[in-house]
Amino acid sequence: MAKYTDSKCRLCRREGAKLFLKGDRCYKASCAFEKRPVAPGQHGMDRKKISEYGLQLREKQKCKRIYGVLEGQFRKYYEKADRMKGITGENMLSLLERRLDNVIYRMGIGSSRAEARQLVTHAHFTVNGKPCNIASLMVKVGDEIAVKETKKDNKYFAEIKTMKVGNMPKWLEFDPETLKGKVIALPTREDIDSQIKENLIVELYSK
Ligand code: SF4
Repeated sequence: MAKYTDSKCRLCRREGAKLFLKGDRCYKASCAFEKRPVAPGQHGMDRKKISEYGLQLREKQKCKRIYGVLEGQFRKYYEKADRMKGITGENMLSLLERRLDNVIYRMGIGSSRAEARQLVTHAHFTVNGKPCNIASLMVKVGDEIAVKETKKDNKYFAEIKTMKVGNMPKWLEFDPETLKGKVIALPTREDIDSQIKENLIVELYSK
């Protein structure tokens, strides 16, 4: 599947929910979904009855778009989660949460997952002291993530040093002063965006 390059706000309108794909703008009145919370296109206002399959498909698309992964990658997360012990849907969300780009976003670096991913791929971070530019890297308990020493003085990170730690998930630690963080536990369901109905995604893939 090709990379999606059209408007991100269209995706929110298509899924009928705010997916927070555009950073700061998502919290402002200029949010396209706040202004026009209907599906894009000529028939966006039409009320359609949605089938069970349609609900499952939309939920999968929503989750995939929140984490910014392509279809093939997303399917692999599901298959891996299915082979793990425990509840498949929760395992799948936990795997997605543990991606390095998501971890950087959750630590408050980057106003969206896309921005966090760009910072990772532009080689701004180290994991356990080694440079890492792989956005899909799966972090483990005990992993230490830090901004590279050579990047710490750049304007972007200088601003982060002054930020207050806000809603940090309890499975992560981050010190803005030193620009270092740590994975202290694996994410559980309660740490993860509650708008996702993962059971629908499991039903879709297990057909
Ligand atoms: Fe979605 Fe609003 Fe953010 Fe656009 S600005 S990506 S519509 S939440």
